[in-house]
Amino acid sequence: MVAIGRRGVGDDGGSAAARVLTLLHRSGPLTRAAVTAELGLAASAVGAALSDLTELDLVRVGEPPRRSPGAPAGRGRPSPVVEVNPDGPVAVALQLSADRMTVGLVGLDRRIGHVRERVLSRAETDPGVLIPILAGAVSDAAHRTDRRCAGVCIAMPGFIRESDGFVRSALNLGWDGVPLARHLAGTMPTAIPIAVGRAATLAVLAEFRYGAGRGATSMLALSCEHVGIGGGFVDAGIPLTGAGYALEAGHIIVEPGGLRCPCGARGCLEMHADARALSRAAGRRPDRGHAGTVAEVFDAAAAGDRAAGEAVRVTAGHLVTGLTSLVNTLAPERVVLMGFLADLYRAAGDFVRDGLMASSVVARTGHIQIVTGDLPAPALVGAAERAFAPLLREPRTALPAAPS
Ligand SMILES: [Zn+2]
Repeated sequence: MVAIGRRGVGDDGGSAAARVLTLLHRSGPLTRAAVTAELGLAASAVGAALSDLTELDLVRVGEPPRRSPGAPAGRGRPSPVVEVNPDGPVAVALQLSADRMTVGLVGLDRRIGHVRERVLSRAETDPGVLIPILAGAVSDAAHRTDRRCAGVCIAMPGFIRESDGFVRSALNLGWDGVPLARHLAGTMPTAIPIAVGRAATLAVLAEFRYGAGRGATSMLALSCEHVGIGGGFVDAGIPLTGAGYALEAGHIIVEPGGLRCPCGARGCLEMHADARALSRAAGRRPDRGHAGTVAEVFDAAAAGDRAAGEAVRVTAGHLVTGLTSLVNTLAPERVVLMGFLADLYRAAGDFVRDGLMASSVVARTGHIQIVTGDLPAPALVGAAERAFAPLLREPRTALPAAPS
């Protein structure tokens, strides 16, 4: 179970209905008795909240779990199982990266459906061209279901003012000062709440709550979708955000005087340890929007090709240099590598672990685990978390009216 009861989300002033809905969203199906115990609420308050949530089609109350044959009968009536309605509202989650976009519909049970991916040409990343494409993708996704849409969230790289979805800059897209949420809202036929969040932060929070970070007190995660590297850090359930600008791990300098980065510095981690860097180190021409080139380099390295093996080690070495600074600064209990970096770690795990132990005094003194991400689409799950946030806070009032 995800611990959010007495110490979690519900304690910051949320109503009983908000606390029950948030618990069921995070934990999955529970008996009514378990909900009451977990939240520390009176049974009557839980009953009233469940009745409201059922009426709103947000929660479903099912049969009590069957007793196994021969198990002793408990006292009183068995407690029914309650869960979020799998046919309830959806969030439109869209992940935008430097060379592609992926859009899907996510339910309160975190099931992702109707996923569409599109590779973007360089010309299509211009905001004037891309914003209508994004608007079309969001609208198309929302029309693929007759379930109500609770909100939209765009997960993208860059410096983002999350309060109003303003993209201050997104270096790998070449964006500077784009009021993305406002532009998108202007194209929507109905007033659906639109949020914009930093993809790395959203993905890290999703892995922390539901994936490779479960059970960890603190977690550092690095993610790479082919181009660029994003980072996130969660401590005791709270992500380090710095108003949306913290932990630009991709711009830690790992090679002084190295390649020029769009951020203005030379030798940034993402210039030397993302998928482009591996392709370059192996003497391959990186392809746009496909992982074909890097898969070929990993295959060649595994088959004993010396040049490919050396390219993997050089790229992994830069990752170790970046991780050393981050681990020494943050001392995470767990390091989660996602996307291309998970593939790199699978290809050179011993090299990365040994390198980090040799170079990081904190890694040597602590108990740091390095693992790969668990969730197939963490940024989409994280985007849905953001899109559902108003509904989870105010279940009675946040949902837009059902289409007539
Ligand atoms: Zn940089």
